[in-house]
Amino acid sequence: MQKFKTESKKLLDLMANSIYTNRDIFLRELISNASDAIDKLAFRSLTDTSIAEDGEELEIMISYDKDARTITISDNGIGMTRDELEENLGTIAHSGSEEFKAANADAQGSAIDIIGQFGVGFYSAFMVAKNVRVISRAAGSDETFVWESDGVEGYTIEPAAEQRPTHGTDVILTLRDEPEATEGDEERAEGFANYLSEWGLRDLVRRYSNYVRHPIRMMVTKSREKERPEDAGDDYTPEYEDYEELETLNSMTPIWRKRKQDVEQSDYDEFYKSTFHDWEDSARTIPFHVEGSLDYYALIFVPSRAPFDLYSKDYEKGLALYSSNVLIQEKCADLLPDYYNFVRGIVDSPDVHLNISRETLQQNAQLRAIAKRVERKIKSELQAMLADDREAYEGFFENFGRGLKFGIYNSYGMNASELADLLLFYSAKEKKMVTLREYVLAMPEGLDKILYAAGDSRERLEKLPAVTGAVKRGYDVLLCTQDVDEFMIQVMRTYHMDAVAGDAENAGSDARDIELANVSTADLDLATEEEKSAAEQATKDNEGLFTAMSDALEGKVSQVRVSANLTDAPACISTEGPISLEMERVMMQGPDAAMAPRAQRVLELNASHPVFEKLTAAQEAGDTEKLSLYASLLYDQALLVEGLPVDDPVEFAKNVCALM
Ligand code: ADP
Ligand code: MG
Repeated sequence: MQKFKTESKKLLDLMANSIYTNRDIFLRELISNASDAIDKLAFRSLTDTSIAEDGEELEIMISYDKDARTITISDNGIGMTRDELEENLGTIAHSGSEEFKAANADAQGSAIDIIGQFGVGFYSAFMVAKNVRVISRAAGSDETFVWESDGVEGYTIEPAAEQRPTHGTDVILTLRDEPEATEGDEERAEGFANYLSEWGLRDLVRRYSNYVRHPIRMMVTKSREKERPEDAGDDYTPEYEDYEELETLNSMTPIWRKRKQDVEQSDYDEFYKSTFHDWEDSARTIPFHVEGSLDYYALIFVPSRAPFDLYSKDYEKGLALYSSNVLIQEKCADLLPDYYNFVRGIVDSPDVHLNISRETLQQNAQLRAIAKRVERKIKSELQAMLADDREAYEGFFENFGRGLKFGIYNSYGMNASELADLLLFYSAKEKKMVTLREYVLAMPEGLDKILYAAGDSRERLEKLPAVTGAVKRGYDVLLCTQDVDEFMIQVMRTYHMDAVAGDAENAGSDARDIELANVSTADLDLATEEEKSAAEQATKDNEGLFTAMSDALEGKVSQVRVSANLTDAPACISTEGPISLEMERVMMQGPDAAMAPRAQRVLELNASHPVFEKLTAAQEAGDTEKLSLYASLLYDQALLVEGLPVDDPVEFAKNVCALM
């Protein structure tokens, strides 16, 4: 006997001891494996003439034996060789269980969730079975092998006593014994009787596997009236007889080929969850059908939450691509732009050429045309969501907004026109998320820029002198707290607002480009004319002061000057040039910290603040020592307000004491 590998063992224990309410899903998992096996056969036979289909219909058969307590799921798909039985069923190698492994680290308390979340594939059979036999013959081979296990320690693989007539696999479950009903353990006490009945199995297939594209058949017993004897009189009572008939249990028409109006949302939801292993309904379902020179069906889902591995490097984006009922590629990456990598779905086109090598697919103009349409559909659906279900959209954006922002950044802004209207930012004035368009429409007279501030927390940004100053003047500031934000804004530079025809609110305002400006930029000009001339005057009057302070802050700031923008704070640090303080901070955390360019800092002073008088007084008294102390302190405290570390904490502490 071969022993199970450790992870497999853990998973099996979990299955065996599971009182998971939804153990019904075992059938779905086995059927989906059978269906995959048929897909694989169909796909292989396109290129490999040695396994040409022998005309036999590809199908999944279910049968049960009440007395022996067995259920058998058979398929005439690709089958497995001895090695494959070993590899596929002896270890956790498949996708679903990989996820299980990843999540297993903290699985103790949440084991049950995991089953629900990922569907753990083949091993789920052990939730209901005490013994599982897998009899398989690989396509192109004439040997049949039997894999058998009681799901505890290990398994055996042996040549079958009897050959399977064709390629394919039978999975035979011997159900566990009926539990004794004990109080408080109703779940277990429910038993397995359902699984040994026609209606129970039919119900499970309808519920979980209705849209499997291959026929799922079962021999069912039906009743019919016996033929009436010739001489039947008026008082004849009809007689009935049972007969057996092979019935197809599933609807088979793929759900994406059905017309939208013929499908219930709950069917889409069930399909989405079982196909894409999510346990929440999708946020949006987008079915569409395109006819013309290129004919195709698509069914696209925007998930409610990010798949748990979205940000791992193993994550693969893509839509499933079918052609003429054959799954060509499970994740066709070319059908989705990177920034919609979280989108799930299926594209089915009889027109896509079946010369199936990745290269040809990639260059395929048809695929590009489909991808373009898919992208447009996703965008308009997201815009619709933004317009008519703001709350849901905000939830969506919280999950996936970062990806959209990277989409703009990574394309050097080329995707900005595509994505800018999908972005949300936190407004310092409105205290809620707003779009760029909303910002512009609410912009007061006299402002021709979209102001933003970037930093690591909203609370801190709200208190920044540059922000409070701008808000006090009636301007709104977008508070950006994601690492990618400012990098994205830098490549965007402007927001292009389209004029919306028929938008009353926006009537008269033509399409235009509006600059995005960091509220902490040195040359930003928010002040009134009077304030500006006062500041200019103060600059002129105090040239000596600024020179002295610049000298004191040699190497730290490129300039000291009066700012007309400040209202309450005595000083702030702004920057000149392309690198802001926040970008510097983000880059300093990156791998190339040593090479990261530094922000060019300017110390800005508020000439109407009492502190300014102290400075001029020290300057007039010729007290350079005091002035240099003040300069250091003002600089350091401005850094602290920005949330940045002071250059030399010891020096800072000393300075504070000296002042006291
Ligand atoms: P997954 O389906 O996610 O890959 P499973 O645990 O359901 O994981 O199955 C493990 C593997 O066993 C499959 O990937 C497949 O290679 C193989 N397998 C399971 N059932 C069958 C079957 N009926 N026919 C052929 N191969 C199968
Ligand atoms: Mg599976």
